[in-house]
Amino acid sequence: MPETRSTCPYCGVGCGVLVAHADGVVTGVRGDPEHPANRGRLCSKGQTLHLTAAPVVTAQVRATRPLRRAVRGGPWAELGWDEALDEVATRFADAVAQHGPDAVGFYLSGQLLTEDYHVFNKLAKGLVRTNNLDTNSRLCMSSAVAGYQDTLGSDAVPACYDDLAQAGTVFVTGSNMAWAHPVLYRRLEDARRARPQMKVVVVDPRRTETAAEADLHLPILPGTDVVLHHAMLHLMLWEGRTDAAYIAAHTRGFDALRDRVREFSPAVAAKVCGVPEADIVQAARWFADGPTLSAWCMGLNQSHAGTDKNTSLINLHLATGWIGRPGAGPLSLTGQPNAMGGREVGGLSHLLPGHRLVADPAHRAEVAALWGLAPGVELSARPGKAALELFEAAADGALQALWIACTNPAQSLPDQALVRRALERCPFVVLQEAYLGAATAAFADLLLPAASWAEKEGTVTNSERRISRVRAAVPPPGEARADWRIAADVARRLQRRLPDTGARFDWPDAEAVWCEHRAATRGRDLDISGLDWAALERQPVQWPAPQGVGRERLFGDGVFATPDGRACFQAPAWRPVAEPRDARHPVALTTGRWRDQWHGMTRTGTLARLAAHGGEPALELHPQELDRRHWSPGRLVRVSSRRGSVLLPVRPSDAVAPAQAFIAMHAPQVNRLTTPQRCPRSKQPELKHAAVRVEAADLP
Ligand code: SF4
Repeated sequence: MPETRSTCPYCGVGCGVLVAHADGVVTGVRGDPEHPANRGRLCSKGQTLHLTAAPVVTAQVRATRPLRRAVRGGPWAELGWDEALDEVATRFADAVAQHGPDAVGFYLSGQLLTEDYHVFNKLAKGLVRTNNLDTNSRLCMSSAVAGYQDTLGSDAVPACYDDLAQAGTVFVTGSNMAWAHPVLYRRLEDARRARPQMKVVVVDPRRTETAAEADLHLPILPGTDVVLHHAMLHLMLWEGRTDAAYIAAHTRGFDALRDRVREFSPAVAAKVCGVPEADIVQAARWFADGPTLSAWCMGLNQSHAGTDKNTSLINLHLATGWIGRPGAGPLSLTGQPNAMGGREVGGLSHLLPGHRLVADPAHRAEVAALWGLAPGVELSARPGKAALELFEAAADGALQALWIACTNPAQSLPDQALVRRALERCPFVVLQEAYLGAATAAFADLLLPAASWAEKEGTVTNSERRISRVRAAVPPPGEARADWRIAADVARRLQRRLPDTGARFDWPDAEAVWCEHRAATRGRDLDISGLDWAALERQPVQWPAPQGVGRERLFGDGVFATPDGRACFQAPAWRPVAEPRDARHPVALTTGRWRDQWHGMTRTGTLARLAAHGGEPALELHPQELDRRHWSPGRLVRVSSRRGSVLLPVRPSDAVAPAQAFIAMHAPQVNRLTTPQRCPRSKQPELKHAAVRVEAADLP
């Protein structure tokens, strides 16, 4: 049976897969033994990929033809592709003509391929000339991006997966790696077996599966990460464990940071963070001993202080010199398969291709030239709206048309009351989606059927900057098309309705799109100008690769991507959670993943084999909380925040502390509760913490 080499479409580990197929149907999947990310391994989600593509599942859940409806919530009617594409182009062109370019918006996904992102970005910024293009990666990695930029001068992850095998200490924070990035966690387990002296420290308010296996678990109170990081540096300074020579030679800004951390002794931090002083001291000593690799995810990023949490962690690497060396450095773990690829092509409202910035006039001019814009045609300098801002604008009536691709904001964005108000008020909503069951479909006027995993060509970049090919093993069902083709088809129609900027949208295939993206990287921190498609066909490559050869880790020479080559210490003040608990909302709610489910469960939720793990959505409370309230497991409770409430059965769990609660992020209504407050620098919302009230509820 033929096998096609491709990449898993779920998490940012980016495992290689071999897809078996016959007669246009996917029949099996196995880990690619030659892929450097996973070396043949797959987790439970990856192992069942072929089942999500089975014809019986596809027939039930896939969008296969363009659909339109006259009234929201009314019945869908099929229409042809030409008619559907014309309607999108006409409605967007009319909105631009009547209200200006910023009256339209694009909301994309870290599950799109790099080529999809590139075409959408060029359509929005090079043709419509609006920067109102953002992505659900804003909910995922934007605080890490800002943290890297502010300290290292570049959105470039310095470390790589192989560092797990060489680290002396692995500092896992804000990540249940065992469930969220399972294959990478297996590599950590291998490394511990091979090197029993390795120390694993896990920082997480919950006693997750990752925390339970650690040498040291610090169950800090939500929102106190900056205090912990500052206290660790305080201890390192007190005991002379920083690398003064490295600090002097390769960094700046350390004096301000030293002043900042003076007040955060481990004793003070122990009270603020709610963990023993001795554990903070131990964590700091192990970190300083190194080589230390830190791995983190949403627990740091999804916070209104997300950038501060990232910079204060990266400070520890710079202060100890544990960066850019084997076994050492910051390694942010990407939630989605291509959050990094989206940033490479500029798929966020403040970015342009090649890690350029909308706010920089020289960058705008460079991109206008790269895209072949006509003389005198400039890219817009107006700031674009980031994720939630798009929906706030729509709720205020400022958005006339919204194009949503490959994501499900009516479930995944915080403050669902606002998001749903926005979708209802926006006069024209296009949903480009592979699955009919997405909650956002209820708010769409037009549905464009998209190709999914194993059906399209392109590339993705994983958490260690490794670019891998995604290949089509089978044709898409019905009339579904590749996302980049749909965007290009609309762009060519829009060119007939809007002033022609000179941008072209006539690529013959995904390779041609990728080549245009590659040209935009020349001379930039992610330079892949020396890489060709044929090389990518042979093996995945880590950027930068200016001569075609990838680089496993960055900044080993102590030269950073800042104007003077020095890394910049940041000295953030501590800001507690955005929404502190009070008498009316006395419980701290957090969210996270289940091992066997993916996001809104449109794919993984179709498989009984995966449903067995995790069970039904529930509110997890400490057993003491159930005892105190005389509640039995399974009792129905109402969970209420300042924005909404949900009914769920209660489940005892000693993974959460008393006065804390957990709901899986996959639960359909959890984001009725979460807060829209966000980091002022990264604009990433605080999905990891909301103050809630829990009461007994009885069905009427
Ligand atoms: Fe897919 Fe992530 Fe599992 Fe690898 S670890 S198989 S990329 S879900």
